[in-house]
Amino acid sequence: MKEVVFWQRDLAALPPISPPEQQLTETADVAIIGAGVTGLAAARNLAKGGASVAVFDTHTVGWGASGRNGGMISVGSKRPLGSWIKAYGPEKAKRLFQASCDAVTFVEEVIKDEKIDCGYERCGLLCAAWKPEHFGLLAAKQKLLAEQADYKTTLVAPIDIDDELGTGGYCGGLIEDFAGRLDPFIYTRGLALAAQKAGATIHENTAVVALEPSADGHRVVTSRGPVKAADVLVATNAYTGPVTPGLQRRVIPIESQIIVTEQLDEALAAGLILKKRIVFDTKKMLFYYRTTDDDRLFFGGRATFSTVSPQKSGKILQDKMVKLYPQLAGSAVEYTWDGYVAFTFDWDPHMGKMDGLYYSMGYCGHGMALGSYMGDRIANVIAGRPEDTPFLELKFSSNPVYRGKPWFVPLMGGFYRVYDRVK
Ligand SMILES: Cc1cc2nc3c(=O)[nH]c(=O)nc-3n(C[C@H](O)[C@H](O)[C@H](O)COP(=O)(O)OP(=O)(O)OC[C@H]3O[C@@H](n4cnc5c(N)ncnc54)[C@H](O)[C@@H]3O)c2cc1C
Repeated sequence: MKEVVFWQRDLAALPPISPPEQQLTETADVAIIGAGVTGLAAARNLAKGGASVAVFDTHTVGWGASGRNGGMISVGSKRPLGSWIKAYGPEKAKRLFQASCDAVTFVEEVIKDEKIDCGYERCGLLCAAWKPEHFGLLAAKQKLLAEQADYKTTLVAPIDIDDELGTGGYCGGLIEDFAGRLDPFIYTRGLALAAQKAGATIHENTAVVALEPSADGHRVVTSRGPVKAADVLVATNAYTGPVTPGLQRRVIPIESQIIVTEQLDEALAAGLILKKRIVFDTKKMLFYYRTTDDDRLFFGGRATFSTVSPQKSGKILQDKMVKLYPQLAGSAVEYTWDGYVAFTFDWDPHMGKMDGLYYSMGYCGHGMALGSYMGDRIANVIAGRPEDTPFLELKFSSNPVYRGKPWFVPLMGGFYRVYDRVK
């Protein structure tokens, strides 16, 4: 197995986004920390509006979660609609859900407007029931989505699941048509090129090491020197570090591991996910998977809660994949890697301003659509344009026992493993 992100396998052959001779920007209206979908969508919007924008990333465009994820574009968030209703009432819950639909529409529009050749396909999503009891939960979810959010889905009865998946591992499912798949790395690079075309400057391999308030805004200290900026947007999601301690205390980085098989025989690949949908299952420690355009199976999940190498997690995931799809027993796994997903204490994504810094983060595994959309929307706030997305109204809380090191994750992992067995 190669420890390489499948989407980035040809990275060395791509021209760098930041030209090597590019000088460090001295001043900017807005400095953005993080060149993933959040920072780049914000940069595109702000630069289009005429602001001078400088984006900084310790690594390269898409190095973070944006260039290493499942490329699954879906509505909703980690927090189910029912939980939103309980917490915020039906009206606001409906607005939040609608905003998540707007996020998918936003991604589709950007791809079209910027002509990003990332293989986007509106393939639909299948949430597959891991246990017979879970099918009832999916039926209840369907009813709630229809009644409270006017959102239509299709239930797949246990007896019909063979029309969707080539595994006997599931007991029915729920289909959402409004979901798609893409190559996340090409999409993220496409956003970067669009932001550059609009006038933003992207500084790769430039870490922000300190932020100091100044009379006219901020002194942004980078690994290549200082930059003056009137405003700062923190778009570091699960990779948020000690430079922004208040935000670091609010996001919980949780590792997710991925493997990608070798190119499969066309018929074998076609028989795994019959309608080429993106697939999640109903476990707490869920599997998420899809096929790629060149007939591989992309299979993600949490292999283990202890820190292990991508080789070891790859092997564990391969065993789980083969248990689910025994027809893959003879297929090699070619790629293995991992990345961090940003959870929050309430499972909501958050955007706003804290300690004088704008931020948007905490997408709990749904950031391809939500991060793109919320990055674009926080740019409106920074630019002083009217913005009424309901995500702005949510309070971003931490927990007194958390200082940015998620010591409790192995405990949660143990609990969820037992929960998945008994529930
Ligand atoms: C394995 C995996 C699978 C996933 N699958 C999906 C999926 O299928 N669908 C979906 O919607 N979401 C998925 N997600 C979540 C999604 O990828 C993220 O929510 C989204 O990419 C977040 O984008 P971002 O721009 O906010 O952050 P990121 O893309 O993580 O970018 C943050 C950047 O900040 C930079 N940075 C951090 N600190 C500094 C600093 N001090 N100075 C400069 N730069 C800094 C990092 O180098 C990094 O590049 C997945 C995540 C993972 C890890």
